Amino acid sequence: MAKSPGLVEKTSEESVEKKWVNLMIKSAKKYHKLCPYYDKKTIQCLLMATVEGRAGKCDRDGKYDGCPIFTKFLEKLYKHYTMNKKTLPRDFQDVVNQIYIV
Ligand code: SF4
Repeated sequence: MAKSPGLVEKTSEESVEKKWVNLMIKSAKKYHKLCPYYDKKTIQCLLMATVEGRAGKCDRDGKYDGCPIFTKFLEKLYKHYTMNKKTLPRDFQDVVNQIYIV
């Protein structure tokens, strides 16, 4: 059965998004051993309010590789950039302080 053009387009866009998210995670590892949104003193996740709409603690000890909150933040950021027709950053340091724009 042939796929509808809309489905192909969506799949391709999803893979571009996934590639960019993976690029940002790889780039983040160059700069951050622990999640930059992890508050060591309070164990709070500083992204939780932006991503989930509620404050919360990090239950991963700041290990962001594979963290669903960190990944969702990057996915939201990707949508923000593409919807506003902005150039996607290639380096995580260019997005690290953009917690408030998504
Ligand atoms: S939950 Fe994820 S995004 Fe939040 S501080 Fe922990 S590792 Fe970072």
